[in-house]
Amino acid sequence: MAYDVELVLDAKARLGEGPIWDHVNNVLLWVNILENEVHIYDPATGNDRHLVLPAMPGTIVPRACGGAVVALPDQFAALDLDTGALTKLADVEVDNPANRCNDGKCDPQGRLWTGTMPISEDSTSGTMYRLDPDHSVRPMFDEVTISNGLCWSPDQSTMYYIDTPTFNIDAFDFDPGSGSLSNRRTVVKIPEESAWPDGMTIDVEGKLWVGHWGGWHCCRYDPETGERIARVEMPCSNVTACAFGDPDFSTLYITTARERVEDFDEQPLAGGLFKVDVGVAGSEQHAYAG
Ligand code: ZN
Repeated sequence: MAYDVELVLDAKARLGEGPIWDHVNNVLLWVNILENEVHIYDPATGNDRHLVLPAMPGTIVPRACGGAVVALPDQFAALDLDTGALTKLADVEVDNPANRCNDGKCDPQGRLWTGTMPISEDSTSGTMYRLDPDHSVRPMFDEVTISNGLCWSPDQSTMYYIDTPTFNIDAFDFDPGSGSLSNRRTVVKIPEESAWPDGMTIDVEGKLWVGHWGGWHCCRYDPETGERIARVEMPCSNVTACAFGDPDFSTLYITTARERVEDFDEQPLAGGLFKVDVGVAGSEQHAYAG
């Protein structure tokens, strides 16, 4: 099946990432990590507004009490989306400037999970952290290289996770009450020709949508069978992440990057924000509860 991918914004982002629908304000939040930017895109008006932060936001999630939370290289901070004001919630690896926070999402109970990664991308020195609603931070597992896609199954029993260089989508049994993980196993092995698995989201049927860095596509996987069941061809190579948005969650928004692209004649739209109707919807993403 051919999908009709549409350019939403010719943003020319160095590293567009982390799209997430803010269902209170009906806007798409996304980050341009390497240029320290948080973007707020309103599909109703077509307007994209951005805030420049003092450091790289690895991810952004809406905050239940208003505004958003960003994972900066060494801290979690609340962000006022009107003024850009930041308020620190908790430190993360303040003693390790070689690492920064990368992708993250909230679980159904509103805890924010974010992994760190070595900026050099060459070691397993990253750790997955969980920021609880009381602002306490705890390490959940280590040996992480480039911490990326994270999502929870509709029945809340499973957390899916991508550490990019493993080329795997792993699953954990997730205990919603305690927020603990167990029984890590690989549910999808990404074929090498598909390139690096990056950001991930989940649809109402429990199937996984993954952006592929260097792959010129975004794919749908069935975690029950491990198979790829759909592929959306993209007009640029570095496809970083995707998220369902619009008030009915029927549109898949996809971020991309210009970083490490050499031939912009070949892919002039690299770094753009795109959208596509994939024939299945997503659902409301969880906000940070603290
Ligand atoms: Zn990513």
